[in-house]
Amino acid sequence: MSAFRSSRSYVAALAAVVVAAPVPAYAQSPSRSASVLQSADSTILNAAIAIARTASGVEQIWPRYRPKQGALALLRPPETILLVTSGRPPAGYAAVRERSLPRELRGRVYLRRGPLPNVDEHTFGTAVALGTDTIWAVAPMGSDSSDFFRKLEFYYHEHFHLAHQRGGKFVETPEARRRARFGQPLVDPAHLTPKFATMAELERRMLSAALEIADVDSLRTHLRRYLAVRRERAGTLLDVVEVERRMERDEGTAMYVGCKAAALATAAPLERAVACILKELERDLEKAPKGPEADARLMRWRLYGTGGAIALLLDRLRPGWKPLVEQGMHLDQLLAQAVDFDPTKAVVAHPG
Ligand SMILES: [Zn+2]
Repeated sequence: MSAFRSSRSYVAALAAVVVAAPVPAYAQSPSRSASVLQSADSTILNAAIAIARTASGVEQIWPRYRPKQGALALLRPPETILLVTSGRPPAGYAAVRERSLPRELRGRVYLRRGPLPNVDEHTFGTAVALGTDTIWAVAPMGSDSSDFFRKLEFYYHEHFHLAHQRGGKFVETPEARRRARFGQPLVDPAHLTPKFATMAELERRMLSAALEIADVDSLRTHLRRYLAVRRERAGTLLDVVEVERRMERDEGTAMYVGCKAAALATAAPLERAVACILKELERDLEKAPKGPEADARLMRWRLYGTGGAIALLLDRLRPGWKPLVEQGMHLDQLLAQAVDFDPTKAVVAHPG
């Protein structure tokens, strides 16, 4: 049995234990300081186990991205937070003393039941003050309720936004701080012509093909063509360039971290993380949400996949790229450097 399968079946078995176990005798006497897991907590408990076991490994996915004090918190809307910490929990959290907890979590799990203040609807997270640190509770949600990988990917994606980006790790320009109002387009609608959309689609296909190219020289040649098409489409449209770069940096890196960390936490091979990003890159934008911005299909949802794919390519072509992103470099700039793209010599083969 592969490590992947044995890990998944362990999680499934533990979920069964949590769901089916009779209520321990000690849980029947009410205690102000103890809390009991419910069957509905099994997803956040299983996620907590996987995330706790992956805690030291995520730093290899993104530098300095690791749980503060080894702590983590998971949210189950509308009224539960599961906290794992070796330290003292904040007020309102009660210890969980289930004997079915795996050894590494025993004595470290706390629950808070009740209305959750300050839940950020946009990012699906809420802050938990732990000593002088803030850690973020995130709900491991997913469109497919049976897909544990997808739940962990969602958790890490949103957690990375909160812990990394809100921590100010990405340099922001004044223009980038300007937030588009929901319902309004992010860029001048006149720029989003049918030709723009056709070329953007061609670029997605070129990035998708790039992930399959084994030979480095062929890959570099292919990516120079990709960058030439991209430049031809958007190079002079400053609002487009700015939105694409910011969206690819923020959402592309969150895709990258979410997919890679979920693969690590489920003991899946790297190919699973690549497939996770490819799925986003190849999504049918006609079926993507039309919001929150008026031009979200082209100027938001397209860019999660392109950013995630470029991040994967930079792993191959530009080791050490992540601190450079934190210092203000953009993913497409790093890619251009990595493949010696010279825009003055770029020749574009026009799509149809
Ligand atoms: Zn995101």
